[in-house]
Amino acid sequence: MPHTKPRARQSKIVATLGPATSTYPEIRALFDAGVDMFRLNFSHGTHDDHRARYAIVRQIEKETGRPIAVLADLQGPKLRVGVFAKGAIDLVEGQSFRLDLDLAEGDEKRVHLPHPEIFAALKVGSALLCDDGKVRLRITKCGKDFAETIVEAGTKLSNRKGVNVPDVVLPLSPLTKKDRADLVVALDMGADWIALSFVQRAEDIKEAQALIGDKAALMAKLEKPAAIDNLLSILDLADGAMVARGDLGVEMPPEEVPAIQKRIVRECRRLGKPVIVATQMLESMISSPTPTRAEASDVATAVYDGADATMLSAETASGQYPVEAVTIMSRIAAQTQSDPAYRAGLEAQRQMLEHTTADAITAAAKLVANTIDAVAIVTYTTCGSTTLRAARERPHVPLLCLTSKMETARRLAISFGVHAVHTADAHDFTEMVEKAASIAKKYGLAQKGQHLVITAGVPFGTPGHTNVLRIVTIGE
Ligand code: PEP
Repeated sequence: MPHTKPRARQSKIVATLGPATSTYPEIRALFDAGVDMFRLNFSHGTHDDHRARYAIVRQIEKETGRPIAVLADLQGPKLRVGVFAKGAIDLVEGQSFRLDLDLAEGDEKRVHLPHPEIFAALKVGSALLCDDGKVRLRITKCGKDFAETIVEAGTKLSNRKGVNVPDVVLPLSPLTKKDRADLVVALDMGADWIALSFVQRAEDIKEAQALIGDKAALMAKLEKPAAIDNLLSILDLADGAMVARGDLGVEMPPEEVPAIQKRIVRECRRLGKPVIVATQMLESMISSPTPTRAEASDVATAVYDGADATMLSAETASGQYPVEAVTIMSRIAAQTQSDPAYRAGLEAQRQMLEHTTADAITAAAKLVANTIDAVAIVTYTTCGSTTLRAARERPHVPLLCLTSKMETARRLAISFGVHAVHTADAHDFTEMVEKAASIAKKYGLAQKGQHLVITAGVPFGTPGHTNVLRIVTIGE
């Protein structure tokens, strides 16, 4: 079996694949530079594009022996205006502008908004933000098939630009017809995580989970004010979360985004669910080989906060320097991790334990590893829950996760500090110790004379039964 050494950094990297990263050499270069999870963005590209990239990721996984997570990101109910007769129009602040259900091409006075269900939910005084907030319209009058507005800001609007309605909870399913078709393809190809866009309430998560079942884990993209209002009930049901700062920064004032980002990271850590900080992290690297100082600081902030992962979007999907972007993101994370203030910060935000055997064992494992200077914590897991609890502790040493389920190993690729290995379950204590020691040695995590702390469940191979903590000293 091929095996690739664990990465030295604890926080993980997500890279979006796109036109700039479609071939084997391009995707392999991203993996070699440090990618732990690949994101397939179903807002762009064809099903065949996604299938082809997925197959390449799995080929790399086979060649390197390292489980890789694939995230299928569904577009969700993104609202868009229709088309204009001239392709684009000029707007003047203070002028009136109408959106309606008339299919006719738009002009300076009106345009089609092809979402009948939206009109009923709109309110006089609400804002409509078009083209990522570049155009702001304020509703002065509305009915079941139209909205009259005044242009408050912006000078241009063109075909099919996005529309955000931040202050209204929209009566929309989080899954459009397109999303449902994309979901079938994503699950069929074997995506490990499904990202749900424009989540507004806990029911949205339930609706998606009813379709996904146990075929993939569900990541809630938090990008609507309603989702922030309902944060705890959403996180309670979702398997992980993404701070989707692109749309979040349109729907909410940008100055509110940093505090919301920190709150989401904190709540996910409390729950022991992986959290990704996304969008514009190294935006300037779409066309520049080096990041701005502010971008370096942004990546470091997410790492200091203890996020499980940071994400690259256009930087790797369509940028000119995808490999450089991953390389620098990895270097920033590794450098941040070596700052003593980083560890002090993680410890200061340490979460209360739940009164469960799993938490008792995993917290003890971290303490024991600290006390005896162990070089790694080894967690035997079936469905991954014990490893997630161990990652929640944010230990200072690598978490070597041994699992007989490949889908568990892949899902955990996004979790803080986890290096997952797909291997058969141990059947008794002797095998548990020997397997952990030999895999830790093989992956360069431990040498003769060093200690490992192992957690496992007896009876062996039974999910949800972690009840054993064992210290091992590596022999020959
Ligand atoms: C975002 O809005 O930040 C995001 C990640 O979503 P998308 O790129 O799908 O718009």
